[in-house]
Amino acid sequence: MQLTIDLTGREVLVTGADHAARQAVRRYEAAGAIVFRLSTPRGAGMDGPLPERPFLVAAVDDGQPGWEALLGRCQATGIPVAAEPASGPEGHVTLVGGGPGTAELLTVAAVAALRDADVVFYDRLAPYQDLPDLTSAELVDVGKKPGHHKVSQADIEKLMVDSALAGNNVVRLKGGDPYVFGRGGEEVAACVAAGVPVRVISGVTSAISVPAAAGIPVTHRGVSHIFTVVSGHAPLTENELTHLSGLGGTIVVLMGIGTLHHLAAGLRRAGMRADMPMAVVERGYRPGQRTTIAELGTITSAAAGCSNPAVLVIGDVVRVAEANRSCAEATAEFDRLAASLMEA
Ligand code: SAH
Repeated sequence: MQLTIDLTGREVLVTGADHAARQAVRRYEAAGAIVFRLSTPRGAGMDGPLPERPFLVAAVDDGQPGWEALLGRCQATGIPVAAEPASGPEGHVTLVGGGPGTAELLTVAAVAALRDADVVFYDRLAPYQDLPDLTSAELVDVGKKPGHHKVSQADIEKLMVDSALAGNNVVRLKGGDPYVFGRGGEEVAACVAAGVPVRVISGVTSAISVPAAAGIPVTHRGVSHIFTVVSGHAPLTENELTHLSGLGGTIVVLMGIGTLHHLAAGLRRAGMRADMPMAVVERGYRPGQRTTIAELGTITSAAAGCSNPAVLVIGDVVRVAEANRSCAEATAEFDRLAASLMEA
């Protein structure tokens, strides 16, 4: 259960050892509370006098014995107690898959890691607008720097490692899944080389979820039982194009807008039929989401105005989305008709 209470100007006593309570302290301060600290049940580490009757006691579970007496007194005198999880051990890196750009598609593990972070290094494809609601950590945009230069991969790795070695819990928040064209493997290797503990939390990849946002299933019984995810960052070789067109099934292309023309022409040369359905889904789950549907032979002109971020889908599954859409539209039309008949 989650309750939202305005804590502005309210006295909150956060109990628990310093290292375990540090994130709870930041969260309550960020919520506008006047925070008092009690770091041991015996009162040592008390930061000045305690409030006579705090509005709330935020009890961090630090594993120390002896807090029961205080909590019992709160219960007896009617002071509400909020149980708070302890901050995790210090000085590690968590690579978090942030999904395609909406906080709703973050995993439970991602939300917990963000809550436990001291610093978050995020990319522009991650759901970064929602971060202030999810964490009290310092937020660092490594997608763009002032002056609009991207922070280099080597610099990102150095920032992460140095911050963890300085004792911070570092979250590296990436769009989609860290291991799908996300350079996650390189970042893990950098941490391992520096002796920094690191773990990876998988995310919802745009390769599957962005087509889904446009109603396109990447597999569909009787239509496609294979899907291949390729990067369009660099043009594919003739050999790759031949293999791709011979595979059958669905082809999903990330980072493919810049090489769209080359890909469509290459797949045609490799023998793929000109009327193969194709979709470009831009800005999935974000304002301005747009789907352009055409065929392999016509996509270059149909998608002339399309821009990144976008996922390309090539295959007969694109027709499934169209069929489902007309079915959904027919159902909606039927519901409207039924409703008007009921009113009449
Ligand atoms: N690791 C990411 C992919 C990183 S490559 C993942 O698993 O999703 C970046 C590419 O992902 C973009 O160029 C685009 O092709 C795709 N992408 C990511 N988010 C997207 C979104 N919300 N809408 C459309 N495409 C998206």
